[in-house]
Amino acid sequence: MLAGNRRFVAGTPDHPNQDAARRAQLAPGQEPFAVILGCSDSRLAAEIIFDQGLGDLFVVRTAGHVLGAEVLGSLEYATSVLGCRLVVVLGHDSCGAVAAARTAVEDGLPAAGFVRDVVERVTPSVLAARAAGLTEDSDIIDEHIRHTVQLIMDRSRVLSEQVQSGEVAVVGLAYQLAEGSARMVTSHGVESGK
Ligand SMILES: [Zn+2]
Repeated sequence: MLAGNRRFVAGTPDHPNQDAARRAQLAPGQEPFAVILGCSDSRLAAEIIFDQGLGDLFVVRTAGHVLGAEVLGSLEYATSVLGCRLVVVLGHDSCGAVAAARTAVEDGLPAAGFVRDVVERVTPSVLAARAAGLTEDSDIIDEHIRHTVQLIMDRSRVLSEQVQSGEVAVVGLAYQLAEGSARMVTSHGVESGK
């Protein structure tokens, strides 16, 4: 996956597994190698930035990669049923959800409608970063990525047991919008560098 990201950064993507033959090959069933929980940001399209194709990645995206029961169920489905061995939390710089949570914490103004639900799920990361004295955007983003990975491990017994038994690795990556590169922030379990 990181090799694919290097191709994307260099401007020389292979666009693998995107033809009619691959489509036909996959029709009977999928066997993606990784599941990604990424931010919904339109600049963070997983198959493009990691230069992958059909059937390679099982992708779950929410604003600010916030977690709910449906997300955890989707991650567990990907590892337990589809056999994904790598879970990736993908955050990024200039994340609107993190910025909104910072504003809510600093100004005490809640967001409107269901955006508030997203903001409230990012707020613990912003508060933890503040408590640790972190003020840089990139440090707060990293904290939110670490927090999301930890939340997956804490809330999903299935995934934490799969990590413990060496079946699955969970990693957190921070993506830089301008450079197009992803950097490792945190990892649990085997095969962290795949
Ligand atoms: Zn974002």
